[in-house]
Amino acid sequence: MQRLIQDLSELENKKIAIVGLGRSGIALVNLLSNFKAKIIVNDKKSREQIEKELQSTCGEVYQIFGGGHPANAFEEADLVVVSPGVPLSTPALVSAIYKGIPVIGEIELSWEILQLFKEKTKIIGITGSNGKSTTSTLVYEFLKKDNKKVCLAGNIGLPMADVVNRVWKGEIEIDYLVLELSSFQLEGIRNFKCHFATILNITPDHMDRYSSMKEYIEAKARIFQNQSGEDFLVLNMDDKNTVSAIEYLRNVYLKRGKLPHIFYFSRTQKVYGAFLDNNKIRFCPREEIDEAIRREMENTTLSIDSFKIRGVHNIENIMAAAILAFSAGCRGESISEIVQEFPGLPHRMELVRVLDGVTYINDSKGTNVDAVAKSLESFSGNVILIAGGRDKDGDFSSLRELVRKRVKALILIGEAASKIASAVGDLVPHYFEEDMEKAVKRGREISTNGDIVLLSPGCASFDMFKNFEHRGEVFKEIVNSL
Ligand code: ADP
Repeated sequence: MQRLIQDLSELENKKIAIVGLGRSGIALVNLLSNFKAKIIVNDKKSREQIEKELQSTCGEVYQIFGGGHPANAFEEADLVVVSPGVPLSTPALVSAIYKGIPVIGEIELSWEILQLFKEKTKIIGITGSNGKSTTSTLVYEFLKKDNKKVCLAGNIGLPMADVVNRVWKGEIEIDYLVLELSSFQLEGIRNFKCHFATILNITPDHMDRYSSMKEYIEAKARIFQNQSGEDFLVLNMDDKNTVSAIEYLRNVYLKRGKLPHIFYFSRTQKVYGAFLDNNKIRFCPREEIDEAIRREMENTTLSIDSFKIRGVHNIENIMAAAILAFSAGCRGESISEIVQEFPGLPHRMELVRVLDGVTYINDSKGTNVDAVAKSLESFSGNVILIAGGRDKDGDFSSLRELVRKRVKALILIGEAASKIASAVGDLVPHYFEEDMEKAVKRGREISTNGDIVLLSPGCASFDMFKNFEHRGEVFKEIVNSL
């Protein structure tokens, strides 16, 4: 597809509407003001609020539309850039698309700009329903250890537009950009291309935004839609949705030419890529891969017992991250060293405390049913599970087998408490508690030596907390005060 911008000088006086003034919107204002674009800002926040937030930016804004998305907001725009939180079905956006105005996301515009002054930057894109932040951080740490000039951005916090802005200003130098990408961000790409990409898994999540699983899979599959023969794609062989994602784009490649090099990772079978062999991760490169990469892969073995992070899902994350890093030219030694040191991110299977032989674990980021399943799979039994919150249309009955085998009792909180009880409450004793403090205290009361009190809610946090971080912090504070 033709590039949206052929030359940076075209941005001067181009009317670019930024829809949604979150972190990435602010970063775009800063980036675009380098090139004297005419920036239109639109948000559901009030005009006064928008003006206040814009005070921290360095550019001038041409027009502001506050208080919603009025039908005429983008009439004058040459290009509309939508924040991931705003659905493309918003009427003002539909009418812009109808008029032929390109509607894209922050990733696409940042990428298009980067291509025009630093096209050699290698992009490593990571998506999936779960594990994105952990895997992105691992890839970043591997490459950093390998002395590569690398930066980590995207859904994980730092907007890509911010990175591109800093590179443009000469504040940082990068050869590799690791990007955590949500399906919402991927919906907004056109030409954006990853040299190295992975889909970690695709399990029901955000089903409140997608009308079907097929639509959700298609959004994730966009991560490799622009890849070509020299690029690398890493897929989870154990996840049927991920493997099937490639079907959606097979005809794209049939029409266009070569598929990227595809690697898989699997906990259950030997594959080209990474697989498990007696508690060790081994790597099997494809013949056609560069000799130096093949040698590093063949000579590296990672012993699971040496990993600092726990959980079966983290074995998958390490496998995916390692293949991406190898493909990008990282040495096995750097990977081995990091897996022994990396403690994991807060709120993901985070060890809080061991008290009277009971282990308390904070997995507040476990916001969907599959994340809970993976957390439960990581223990052999004796789990007292604290779950519940705002339901994301999750199918809790899919946890029945694991609850039967691994869970000793359920402590249910939040709006989804009774839904979870109806799905799995007949299997084990369950308790309804009205807040986190009572839930933790109940956990202490019913636990005995060797048990695990695990907060892995399987739900969003917004019914009781500001966000998952807040929920995790509250949990940790209470546990630490026991
Ligand atoms: P994301 O950025 O995709 O939300 P995180 O790395 O932040 O992923 O992990 C979020 C939660 O998902 C963790 O708390 C853990 O329970 C679960 N999780 C992490 N990795 C995986 C995986 N590979 N498969 C399934 N669940 C996972």
